[in-house]
Amino acid sequence: MALEKPDQQRLFFALTPPIELARYFHHLAMTDLQECRGRQLKPEQIHLTLRFIGSVEAEVATCLQQAAGEITLPRFELVFDTLGYWPRPRVVWSMPSRTPAPLADLAAQLEQACLGCGLAAEKRAYVPHLTLLRNARQAPAQGTMKPLHWPVEAFALIQSETLPQGAVYTELQRWSLQ
Ligand code: ATP
Ligand code: MG
Repeated sequence: MALEKPDQQRLFFALTPPIELARYFHHLAMTDLQECRGRQLKPEQIHLTLRFIGSVEAEVATCLQQAAGEITLPRFELVFDTLGYWPRPRVVWSMPSRTPAPLADLAAQLEQACLGCGLAAEKRAYVPHLTLLRNARQAPAQGTMKPLHWPVEAFALIQSETLPQGAVYTELQRWSLQ
């Protein structure tokens, strides 16, 4: 993994679930998904990435914060009802089978914010997903889950640090949806 220069921070935009939802996802990973033999994320690590930024200098971070503050989009609800596995990153995830328009708009507007602050365009299509297990060996037996409703009221800019005990995410700023 890349070591940040002293004046850089590794950042990403994300949605973070209310703690009770995060605990529910964590519990699901420990019980129903045990057969996948992965390492579950701690409740406080569970998030849905909107746009990965990577390591940037303070001026870029400030530019991104300014641009994110200009976003005005409505609140929306995500319904997580799908489970799956990506073998190459060995990740087990949960997804909403339907992407509400404001989520797609939010991701698109954050992409524009990144471009406006001088970052390179994201080449991959945006696939909203919530990682539940890392280093998993097999796919979940079930491709569906009891639908879990997440009312999304805000998005955040998060700093990511890789420490010996694992990834530590620190919320730097949060913006409310309308
Ligand atoms: P670590 O890399 O320390 O094992 P991590 O992958 O959770 O932990 P980051 O690499 O900082 O931490 O990633 C933060 C979030 O952004 C994670 O949800 C990760 O899946 C996502 N992410 C990382 N790199 C990319 C990328 N190139 N494109 C899209 N999303 C990414
Ligand atoms: Mg990573």
